[in-house]
Amino acid sequence: MGKVYLIGAGPGDPGLMTIKGKGLLECADVVIYDALVSQAILDMINPQAEKIDAGKRMGRHSLLQEVTTHLLIEKAQDHAIVVRLKGGDPFIFGRGGEEMAELVEAGIAVEVVPGITAGIAAAAYAGIPLTHRLYSSSVTFVTGHEAAGKYKPAVNWQAIAQGSETIVIYMGIHNLPYIVEQLSSALLSPETPIGLVRWGTRPEQEELIGKLGTIVEQVEETGFSAPAIAVIGAVVKMHSILSGCRPL
Ligand code: SAH
Repeated sequence: MGKVYLIGAGPGDPGLMTIKGKGLLECADVVIYDALVSQAILDMINPQAEKIDAGKRMGRHSLLQEVTTHLLIEKAQDHAIVVRLKGGDPFIFGRGGEEMAELVEAGIAVEVVPGITAGIAAAAYAGIPLTHRLYSSSVTFVTGHEAAGKYKPAVNWQAIAQGSETIVIYMGIHNLPYIVEQLSSALLSPETPIGLVRWGTRPEQEELIGKLGTIVEQVEETGFSAPAIAVIGAVVKMHSILSGCRPL
């Protein structure tokens, strides 16, 4: 019996992959990877390894979750190092917790290797620090696209708007009009800065900076699309000072 490593690939820039994760990719026997893992990271995989694309982007499921988990269990039965490679961090909106629990239940040895999550890295590469002594002492990571059958019926946007100075939304572009409406009805000012970062940390990174009151219109006008994170709060103002330092 082998072992499954649930590895975070980070947001795209290969320099942001962990040393531990890279070492495991280099000696993996099987790697099952997701759509948001960049080519530069896939290039780190042992050339002899079996590579399986389990990529799923909204509306384009190539492998069902059950199939992926089953495959991991099967591969771990006759391979020493099986890697499940996910974009960003496996435990941040990546179903890593579910997958790992299923492997534990099946009696498979499994270990997680965290990655740098897109919310932190894409914001950083866009010159947006998520906390700042003058602007924000709190951050919330929230999904803008909730799965059916989850433990709670809805994200409490009201509470988030009132309780968190910085809000980082994953998978929020499709639902942006709804989210903006929810935050506005929680009395978040239309002047609140918001920044969208698409393909963060990759050469094709794009940013759209605006205000809560106008961002939906800006997205429509520019055709800005997923995958992107949205950062809301006063920290987004730092973009005008820091974005020139983009490390790409
Ligand atoms: N586990 C991942 C998130 C998976 S959910 C992580 O920790 O980053 C997928 C969502 O993550 C996308 O819809 C988008 O909102 C965000 N995302 C992932 N990679 C991104 C990137 N390079 N730039 C901007 N957003 C990204």
